[in-house]
Amino acid sequence: MSTRIGVLALQGDTREHLAALRAAGADAVTVRRGSELESVEALVIPGGESTTMSHLLREFELLDPLRSRLADGMPAYGSCAGMILLATEILDAGVAGRDAVPLKALDMTVRRNAFGRQVDSFEEDVAFDGLNDPVHAVFIRAPWVERVGPEVQVLARAAGHVVAVRQGRTLATAFHPEVTGDRRVHALFVDMVTGRA
Ligand code: GLN
Repeated sequence: MSTRIGVLALQGDTREHLAALRAAGADAVTVRRGSELESVEALVIPGGESTTMSHLLREFELLDPLRSRLADGMPAYGSCAGMILLATEILDAGVAGRDAVPLKALDMTVRRNAFGRQVDSFEEDVAFDGLNDPVHAVFIRAPWVERVGPEVQVLARAAGHVVAVRQGRTLATAFHPEVTGDRRVHALFVDMVTGRA
């Protein structure tokens, strides 16, 4: 039986992640409620808007269950907004009360909209540790990583900034591999979940 991986489906580019995970051989399902979260082995948090997703996590009473599953070691992958949410600390998190909340699954400090202050979106081929050929990375109002903890492996950089990291079975990219048709990052995550990587 293939691995059941959830995609948090409160907001953001859920469909692209479902397709990428399926192409990588996983049984991908949407997660909007606690019972669905309980049924998955791992979770993808998509790109979108981290402040809105934080608000909806509270509204759907998913914030505490998600934090506790992550604290118990559920593997997770976050792209862009998802990377922001997985961090231990978020800089420029937004207006108090409507800000992005850190789920603290990956020991890093991220700056929200960091590249976005310079240029809203851009694309670049980046070398990605463990992959033979560069990944064509699409950045859309993307964060960058300003600090990583001792357990965190840096997988990619762009314009001198850290844009992909891994800690144990948790993965985060500031860019959106789900929109390019290149399934290697999702395949890496599926392998991380099943213990092959
Ligand atoms: N700027 C968005 C945020 O703060 C992230 C953008 C994205 O996911 N493409 O959540």
